[in-house]
Amino acid sequence: MVVEHARKHQVDTLSNFAAKLSLSCKGMDIELDNRLAKFRSALTKGVDFELFAPLIDDILALLKSQEAQQATHQRELHNSVLDAGKLLQKTKGLPDDARRTLRHLLDHELNNVQSTRDFIPLLNRLVTIYHQALQVKLTIPVAQQAPVQPALAKELLNLANDFVFEDEAAEQVKSIKNNISETDSVDDLLAAAIDIIKIIAGNISKERQSAQSFLVSLNQTLEELHHSIVSTSKHSEAMGAEFDALNKRIEGKISNLTTQTQSATSISALKALVDNELKSLSQDLIEKERLEQQDREMLLHNFQGINQRINSLETKLSKYKKRLHEQRFKSLIDSLTKLPNRAAFDERFNHEFHLFAVQESDVTLVVIDVDHFKSINDKYGHSAGDKTLQVIAKALQMSIRKSDFIARYGGEEFVLLMPGMSLEYASQPLEKLRKAVKGIPFKFKDKQVEITISIGATQFKKGDTPLSAFDRADDALYKAKNTGRDRLCVNK
Ligand code: GH3
Ligand code: MG
Ligand code: MG
Repeated sequence: MVVEHARKHQVDTLSNFAAKLSLSCKGMDIELDNRLAKFRSALTKGVDFELFAPLIDDILALLKSQEAQQATHQRELHNSVLDAGKLLQKTKGLPDDARRTLRHLLDHELNNVQSTRDFIPLLNRLVTIYHQALQVKLTIPVAQQAPVQPALAKELLNLANDFVFEDEAAEQVKSIKNNISETDSVDDLLAAAIDIIKIIAGNISKERQSAQSFLVSLNQTLEELHHSIVSTSKHSEAMGAEFDALNKRIEGKISNLTTQTQSATSISALKALVDNELKSLSQDLIEKERLEQQDREMLLHNFQGINQRINSLETKLSKYKKRLHEQRFKSLIDSLTKLPNRAAFDERFNHEFHLFAVQESDVTLVVIDVDHFKSINDKYGHSAGDKTLQVIAKALQMSIRKSDFIARYGGEEFVLLMPGMSLEYASQPLEKLRKAVKGIPFKFKDKQVEITISIGATQFKKGDTPLSAFDRADDALYKAKNTGRDRLCVNK
């Protein structure tokens, strides 16, 4: 009974564990999901422990292949960054400082860096910036370089904004952003790009370590669990055999006693016989009690071990899940203005676009750009510029409808989606929006300053692609800028 009860407890604990494991691994790998589901259903059906061993082996193998896949991605990324870096090294006219930093990056830092898939697009963009910088240096005469720099600086600032940096890295990025907006030289931009690469690389390696150590500890715990189950089941088998032998012995002795009593000729002979056999029987019973006790202790010990491992794994799991969740949440929010960022906008934009294809209800798309924003930075400093952006973002957010969606597209540009609103009726709320920003009483260095925005708007049209709609809104913005700023232009 005790053993049966303990077994049931063991099965319950394992079922629980398998269910939690399935949940936390869900989506990593379909095959892994399937195996875990099988593992659970086998547990609830009460299949023999020995039959679990191959299932657990399969799960372990799948976890190992996950690790291997990750390693391959990391290698690919490593190579592409290395190639781009080497190409850059061949460029003539690269400033000494940047060349030294690049050499250090390729020879030392890159060796310590691997990546997860999510970082590949970011690094790819960085490599693209690199190529742009390279083009500037290689093909365009120095005298004509100036117009390209604002585009580079803007792209770099966008990149720095897209990525969420924490603690120390956030401070470093802030100062890099300052440098970017204050500089006119391609060399400085190049150095800033390298600095940002370094910080991203550091972040990647931190993220990778936490993902990998989680997988390793998951692996370890499964292996230990496997071991525990096999040893418990072996032990139970051995115990079973010992119990059987003991029972047979006891039965034998009792039947022996019965025959011998029948053939006893005197009371004293009978007494001696019974005495003797009873002593031996009671020894057997004591032995049986001891065996049972040992079995209980062994099972208890095993359960405690299994429980401990499961508990520690659960703690790790929930920490890891929390981190993943935070990372995903943060990566959709712009850290400066707390508005949705460009990635969030792209997601929503595509969604509205697909809805429009099905429903064809009106959607107005608006791009907003702060006028002469560079001069705010130039006159009052980058931090004042940052604060200004925060205030403008808040004003914009407060002035739109609940069903509208606003995001910081990058730099001092915002985008607004107005589902269920035709262009014809959008002018009024958009004019209100423009006036709301214009009316903010900004004060810098004790001077009252008016800040204005230019707005370009269009409406989704049949046959549009996301790009064509966006281009139309952008053209309208361009018109607003070229006809004096501080105005709304629409483009049907
Ligand atoms: P225009 O009226 O033509 O839009 O002029 P502008 O100065 O606003 O436009 P431009 O695109 O030339 O400059 C945008 C400036 O915005 C450049 C950059 O220094 C600044 N900027 C972009 N992102 C940030 C940021 O996160 N913080 C701060 N403080 N400034 C930023
Ligand atoms: Mg702009
Ligand atoms: Mg502007």
